[in-house]
Amino acid sequence: MKVLSGKEVAKVRSDDLKARVAQFKEAKGRAPELAVILVGEDPASQVYVRNKGKACEKVGIHSIEKKVPADITEAELFKLIDEFNESNTVDGILVQFPLPGHLSKEKVLARIQPMKDPDGLTYENLGLLWAGQTRVASCTPLGVMKILEHYQIPIEGKRAVVIGRSNIVGKPMAQLLNEANATVSICHSRTKDLHAYTKEADIVVVAAGKPRFVGKEAFKEGVVIVDVGIHRIEVDGKNKLCGDVRYEELEGLASAATPVPGGVGPMTIQMLLENTLHLAELRNQ
Ligand code: NAD
Repeated sequence: MKVLSGKEVAKVRSDDLKARVAQFKEAKGRAPELAVILVGEDPASQVYVRNKGKACEKVGIHSIEKKVPADITEAELFKLIDEFNESNTVDGILVQFPLPGHLSKEKVLARIQPMKDPDGLTYENLGLLWAGQTRVASCTPLGVMKILEHYQIPIEGKRAVVIGRSNIVGKPMAQLLNEANATVSICHSRTKDLHAYTKEADIVVVAAGKPRFVGKEAFKEGVVIVDVGIHRIEVDGKNKLCGDVRYEELEGLASAATPVPGGVGPMTIQMLLENTLHLAELRNQ
């Protein structure tokens, strides 16, 4: 079984991105800029935001971290987003989720200028993706496509199954595979007889958010498995990371698979950086 190492792919792409960022700086006299807004003090979100800042720095993208209190009003948050929307130097705006309960994720996303949406989550960017006119695609599914491309996994004419239908992973994943000419089924929590779909599939992307919920019973020989899930579980009193797939069961069955950790995860942040540069280039042609 071939190990599809997102970690390796991200490393290769990171060197290339660094050079592209340097070219942008040279041509425009400034670095591309990503503004990240963190509402409240959620510890996991703080780590994610810090990691995004570090990753930006590594490739030469300028990052702004704006921390605001959990009780910020919608109007105050919109005012801040508007400042970044209007700024000449901010190329990407990211509001870290989850948000406190009084703020609507949908309304916050709708406030972000679509030309500055590196997550590809505004309605305009989601619509462009489904219309076959992609401007930016959501980072995790885009990262999956880059892994498949890097390892030259054939997609055209293949049967692909995506487990999960969220706006951030499942739906854009299905559309990206469709654009690459796979025949795609989307499975979800109300799908009857999930295995009837997965057993027929050449490529399965698992994004159900359920630790170790599928294994060898679900797949045919030669299948390519992409595991998007990431969970912290306790094994023998020790903290471990695992995915939605029981990876150890794939040996001798799958032709290729992404591990957890080191699979899809490292690509998400890499694609965020690439999307930020892409938007900077689009706005500054
Ligand atoms: P989500 O909870 O929004 O969506 C889960 C989807 O799985 C839903 O559409 C649901 O219908 C489907 N589902 C749930 N149970 C199912 C079942 N038994 N059978 C079939 N379908 C089922 O989650 P999400 O935001 O799409 O993320 C999915 C997973 O990917 C999570 O584990 C998340 O942590 C992980 N994730 C990882 C990265 C990364 O960088 N590696 C990025 C984003 C999300």
